[in-house]
Amino acid sequence: MKIGAATPIKKGRLEVVCGSMFSGKTEELMRKIKRSEYARQRVLVLKPQIDNRKSVTCIVSHDGRSRTAHALDSSDVAIQSVIEFAQAFDVIGIDEVQFFPDEIVRVIGKLIEMGKHVVAAGLDLDFRGEPFGIMPYLLAIADDVLKLKAICVVCAKDAHQTQRLVNGQPARYSDPIILVGAEDFYEARCRNCFVIDRTPSVLPVTQGLV
Ligand SMILES: [Zn+2]
Repeated sequence: MKIGAATPIKKGRLEVVCGSMFSGKTEELMRKIKRSEYARQRVLVLKPQIDNRKSVTCIVSHDGRSRTAHALDSSDVAIQSVIEFAQAFDVIGIDEVQFFPDEIVRVIGKLIEMGKHVVAAGLDLDFRGEPFGIMPYLLAIADDVLKLKAICVVCAKDAHQTQRLVNGQPARYSDPIILVGAEDFYEARCRNCFVIDRTPSVLPVTQGLV
């Protein structure tokens, strides 16, 4: 190395934990975070603000465990603020990452360049059985991918899809994400037991990342 040359920053890495609902993604994210904390790594945990099912300041897994997380709105400004915010941390955990827009992919790329270890957990498929938003991009650039399976509630085989039920019936492909006044339920199902009224498309649905 030349005298006076800046020491190159050691790049970080991206781990993605994906799978259907009830596959234990949040529990796995928490386990990885806990491991880093045992090693005295400084950990920042983020989640999208739109995910307010149980708490706006905690991530809560289905087994009831919780930990404090910083709720981030989905504006580009808020997402870009993570780059500054993350300076003081070694590990950045992101739960429900599938709900973030394209900008999160750029920001995660920047965090990796900055030497951060990013652990992102999210649904890889939506209720239609199609790739969920930005997830294909994250899965492609990840150093490590862990795809978790749930157990199909119909046949008890391994399940990697999330069945949406509206008023007890399988949701239709054209149903909006939020149906006012309807009772919405989700359950894990295998490919054979998953029901949707048309063939899911596996072509990209997000645009503008290049
Ligand atoms: Zn099944």
